[in-house]
Amino acid sequence: MRPGKRNLFLRIVLISLSLFFVLHTGCPASADSGAEIARTSGVGFYFDTVVSVTLYGADEALLDEIWTACGQYEQLLSKTVSGSDVDRINHSNGQPVPVSPETYAILQSAKSISEGSGGAFSVTIAPLTALWDFTGGTQRMPDEATRLSKLPLVDDQKLILNEDGSVTLPEGMEIDLGGIAKGYIADRIAELIKDRVYGAILNFGGNVYVVGNKPDQSPFRVGIRDPLGEEGSSCAVISVYENSVVTSGIYERYFIKDGHWYHHILDPMTGSSAETDLASATVVSKSSMIADAMATACIVMGSERAMEYLTENGADALLILRDGTFLSTEGFDHTYQLMPLGGSQ
Ligand code: ADP
Ligand code: MG
Repeated sequence: MRPGKRNLFLRIVLISLSLFFVLHTGCPASADSGAEIARTSGVGFYFDTVVSVTLYGADEALLDEIWTACGQYEQLLSKTVSGSDVDRINHSNGQPVPVSPETYAILQSAKSISEGSGGAFSVTIAPLTALWDFTGGTQRMPDEATRLSKLPLVDDQKLILNEDGSVTLPEGMEIDLGGIAKGYIADRIAELIKDRVYGAILNFGGNVYVVGNKPDQSPFRVGIRDPLGEEGSSCAVISVYENSVVTSGIYERYFIKDGHWYHHILDPMTGSSAETDLASATVVSKSSMIADAMATACIVMGSERAMEYLTENGADALLILRDGTFLSTEGFDHTYQLMPLGGSQ
């Protein structure tokens, strides 16, 4: 699909899904105990992403509380919301900015993952992401001189987290939490609901969080997106309990220009779309935030470095190469039985 039509497409998907979920909301699901566990579902649009939620055995207020929390996180963490913590950091002209403890915690993790990934993951990527348009349909990209001139502004170690809870970012630098915030929010929403549902599956545009079990007590099954197939198709499924499954890929936001595939994960060393042999990276972790950042880092690293990085960090992950090869870590093989679907479903 042409990226220019993506937002329109997302909205159409959103409306269709909303209709679907409205029709199904409140339908009782079967439970082994014989008791009926009500199913509640909903779809929202936050962080430029379709968010879908399915809850089993939730109290009536919970869905609304989830949307309220999503709205609040968007106000706090979005680069494009005026007055958000990120916006204030980006316009701080090198002065310390007081931020919420949540923003501070995300930046702490971001810095640590940036260091651990040798800078492959960098939230200070913002001056570079601003030069590209992967979603608006303009296929904007920088000329080489502009791109290279911004590289010195990308360095997460220069982002200072002060002891008083404020943040200092050198003038000219900016942050973009697009590679980590959805994971953090998924973690927080999972925490919000965990004692109030029998089971739930949350999907924040590729960040899936599974809480509890299905009403029949079987584990939820999460599809691994087929990066080489039709939009929305899965190539394999894993059973998951109380965990997050996060996929980053080169197929979500991209355009093709002069025969070259430009996608939204940038290499901080070049300022251009990462030249990678990976089509997607899926990381399974109790922390959706860490999985989110690690998956993004893996795309930048490419399969060889990514496998080393994942293994060193004891991560459970599945990498799908552009040639269709699957690579998985020992931890992943040990814990998950990958059920191939034999193409698109
Ligand atoms: P998605 O947001 O589509 O799920 P990712 O989690 O991989 O995908 O995040 C990609 C987003 O992260 C980009 O849209 C951009 O905002 C930001 N980003 C791009 N390159 C990097 C990078 N090297 N390090 C950190 N964030 C990045
Ligand atoms: Mg990510």
